[in-house]
Amino acid sequence: MYSNYQGYLSTELTNIQEAGLYKRERIIVNPQQARIKISSGQEVLNFCANNYLGLSNNSSLINAAKKALDERGFGMSSVRFICGTQDLHLELERKISEFFGTEDAILYAACFDANGGVFEPLLSEEDAIISDSLNHASIIDGVRLCKAQRYRYANADMDELENCLKVAQAQRFRLIVTDGVFSMDGNVAPLDKIYQLAEKYNAMIMVDESHSAGVVGETGRGTTELYNLRGKVEIITGTLGKAFGGAIGGFTTGKKEIIDMLRQRSRPYLFSNSIPPMVAAAGIEMFNMMSKTNELQDKLHSNTAYFLGKMKDAGFDIKPTRSAICAVMLYDARLSQEFAAKMLEEGIYVIGFYFPVVPKDQARIRVQISAGHEPEHIDKCVDAFIKVGKELGVIS
Ligand SMILES: *Cc1c(COP(=O)(O)O)cnc(C)c1O
Repeated sequence: MYSNYQGYLSTELTNIQEAGLYKRERIIVNPQQARIKISSGQEVLNFCANNYLGLSNNSSLINAAKKALDERGFGMSSVRFICGTQDLHLELERKISEFFGTEDAILYAACFDANGGVFEPLLSEEDAIISDSLNHASIIDGVRLCKAQRYRYANADMDELENCLKVAQAQRFRLIVTDGVFSMDGNVAPLDKIYQLAEKYNAMIMVDESHSAGVVGETGRGTTELYNLRGKVEIITGTLGKAFGGAIGGFTTGKKEIIDMLRQRSRPYLFSNSIPPMVAAAGIEMFNMMSKTNELQDKLHSNTAYFLGKMKDAGFDIKPTRSAICAVMLYDARLSQEFAAKMLEEGIYVIGFYFPVVPKDQARIRVQISAGHEPEHIDKCVDAFIKVGKELGVIS
C-alpha cells in the first residue's frame, strides 16, 4: 500500500516545489530577538518575528519561568478538569480578564485551539456566524466545526457586512467574527462600525486580538481600547505566542456565561493538556509588567512611526497600517523574492509574500516592527531597503 501512496505524495510535493510554494525553514541558533544568528553563521537583524514587545528573550519572564519550573515542576500530565489546574492557571486567567476589561477568561494550548473550540459549543444550526474573508485559518477551521449558518463579507467591507446581517435576521443568534489586525496588510478591523451594525441588527461580536494585543491602542489593550469599546465585545481570543512573550498558549476572554460554557463544552479545552506551569508563571509576570508601565508599547509605537516615516520619505509604497505590520508593496511576485534575498545579503531578515498568500499582483515585503528594535536597527533596515530598492529600480 505505502509504495503507491509514497508515489502519490512525491508527485504532490514536486508540484508544490514547481509552483514555488515549498516552505523551507531558516535555522536560528540563538534566542529569538532583534539580532539573530542563523545556521550559516551569518548574523542578521530580524524584522519578521511576531515578537512585537521584544519579550521573547526577556529576563524577567525567563526568571519567572525558571522559578515556576523549580517550584511547580515541568508539566501537568492532565487536562484542566481532571488534575491539570494549578493556582497559576487561574491567576493567569484573571490577569487576562483584567488586561482586556472582560469578565472571565479560559486558557488553551494555543489560539488555534481557542478559535477551534469557540464556535461549536456556543452556536447551532439555528444561528449565524458572519466572518471577515481575511480571518485567520484557525477561525475558518473553527467555523467549519460548527453547524451555524455561515456568512462571509469582503475584508472590512461594512456594506457587505450589513447585507449579511440583514439576511441573517432569519437566524436566532448572530455572531460577527473578525481579526483585530489582519496579518498581511496590518490594517485594523473597523470595530467602531462593526459595533454600530451589531447594535442595529442585534448581533454579538468576536475579535481575535492575536496581532493586536500588546500592540494596538494607546496602552496596547487591543482594538477594543482603540475604539473605546472595552468590555463591550462579547468574545475576544488571543495568543501568548506573539507580543505576550512568544512561547505558547492561547485564550478566550469575554462574558462570564460564555467562558463558563466553554469550560463545560469546548473540546480543545476538555481533551487537551494544560499549559505548563512555567508558561503560566511567565504570563502572569508579563501582565504584571504591563500593568505597571507602557514603556514597551510606547517604544513599539515610536519605532513603527519612525520606520514608516523614513520609508515613505524614501519613496516606498506602504499599505496604510495601524499596527506593527508594515507591508512594503512591490506588486510583482518575483521581485518580492529577489528583494528579500538581497535584503538578507545586507543583513536584514524580512519575508516577501505573494499569491496565494496575498492577492495576485499584490506581492510585498512584510516588515514587523518590535519594541526590541533600537533606532540603529531600524536605520540599518531602512538603509538596506533604499540600497536594494535603487538596485532593483523600485525607488529612484
Ligand atoms: C497567530 C494567530 C493565531 C494562532 O495563534 P497560536 O497561539 O500560535 O495558535 C490565531 N489567530 C490569529 C489572528 C493569529 O494571528
